[in-house]
Amino acid sequence: MTFSAPFDNSFAALPAGFYTRITPTPVADPKLLAFNDSLAKTLGLADAGADDLAFTFGGNELPQGADPLAQLYAGHQFGNYNPQLGDGRAILLGEVVDSDGNRRDIQLKGSGPTPYSRGGDGRAWLGPVLREYVVSEAMHALGIPTTRALAAVATGEDIYRETALPGAVLTRVASSHLRVGTFQVFAHRGEVENLRTLTDYAIKRHYPQADGPMGLLRAVCAAQADLIAAWMSVGFIHGVMNTDNCSISGETIDYGPCAFMDAFHANRVFSSIDRQGRYAFSNQPQIAVWNMAQLATALIQQMDVADDAIAEATEIVHAMPGLIEAAWLKRFAAKIGIAKAEPDDAALIEDLLALMQRDGADFTNAFHALSGDAAQDQFADRDAFAVWQSKWLARIASEPDPKAVMQAANPAIIPRNHRIEHMIQAAVAGDMAPFDRLLKALATPFETTDADLHTPPTEQEIVPATFCGT
Ligand code: AMP
Ligand code: MG
Repeated sequence: MTFSAPFDNSFAALPAGFYTRITPTPVADPKLLAFNDSLAKTLGLADAGADDLAFTFGGNELPQGADPLAQLYAGHQFGNYNPQLGDGRAILLGEVVDSDGNRRDIQLKGSGPTPYSRGGDGRAWLGPVLREYVVSEAMHALGIPTTRALAAVATGEDIYRETALPGAVLTRVASSHLRVGTFQVFAHRGEVENLRTLTDYAIKRHYPQADGPMGLLRAVCAAQADLIAAWMSVGFIHGVMNTDNCSISGETIDYGPCAFMDAFHANRVFSSIDRQGRYAFSNQPQIAVWNMAQLATALIQQMDVADDAIAEATEIVHAMPGLIEAAWLKRFAAKIGIAKAEPDDAALIEDLLALMQRDGADFTNAFHALSGDAAQDQFADRDAFAVWQSKWLARIASEPDPKAVMQAANPAIIPRNHRIEHMIQAAVAGDMAPFDRLLKALATPFETTDADLHTPPTEQEIVPATFCGT
């Protein structure tokens, strides 16, 4: 039986220079590891058995109506411009319009080489596939814009990194896969017609109310500002905020060496390839602004000098730190029970973060404990916490329902790195139970079930670095 989905492909109708048509490379023995039934329903996908799903989402059988292609893009990687990246191991099957009326890309990742593979094998191994599955679904459950995971399929083939590892394919669903780098490639090549076509396409797809390229820039800056503040409010470090991993829709995209922090430290870095700490936790706002400056530079290539585009683009990018700060304040104020933040609240929040950093307090548990009656247990220096606490209690005395505000802003469960590593090791050994359990608990992150999943890693369990998703 051929799997069917109500495809309605708009990207494939764009000019040929935007992509290369290519089909996934079949795999030896596709086995379904995970499938997101509830997401499949909202996408209007037909019911199918595990074997059909494995064949479809392993890349062995094209679903009816698919128009598979690899997208072209470029990007700044760690600050250096790479004129051609593109989907080197991902293939867009097509788009569907979901039950909320939103257009969604359905893309295979790890589905074999493409003309953009640049010497890579076009494959992914099981570890990063399951990591992205769990972390992206956790992000969604936390209410933070993100790509989703639809399926994970084991390929039955080994792939070679430093050693032989089991291969897998992830199917991800996104509002689109347009990136800052998608604009950069045409801007840098001086392909102004393509740049205009892409700009119109992005506006129509994501920000229909936006007025021209500068309207688009404004909208993306606003979406990215909210996203960065949301990440920070849950202690998330993306790890590789290159411009090719920065989405136009404002969704979290390209989960590689990402992580949620356990003990709070503002300069925390996880990615093993980020030796300079460019993408450290508290650098993320600055980097988002830098990325938006690259988008601005690309977008203005299509504007008349007479339009004063440079002045307007500069104004928009310069406004972004303020947008992030406002979004940050709103999110962190809620974490301490303040529904409507005042400018002075920033100092109160910063004081708490400083205490947490000094004491090595667990970011998630310390905030979560504020709405209980044993918050002091999260701090080594209880006296210092008590001093902060009395200031804080005075501030929230006038709040109508601080406890409810905190409970809605402070998750009990995040995908902790050591749990993810444990889940990956079990899956490699053929045991998917830890994956299933983690996924289920993370679907309701504000509920205090599964007490052991709340626990920070022991000294031995700490995972010091995460490695690139290749
Ligand atoms: P990433 O760091 O995963 O965002 O990837 C950066 C670029 O490298 C993108 O163009 C990817 O498609 C490409 N890439 C990453 N891993 C592979 C691989 N195993 N084979 C081919 N291309 C890859
Ligand atoms: Mg990428």
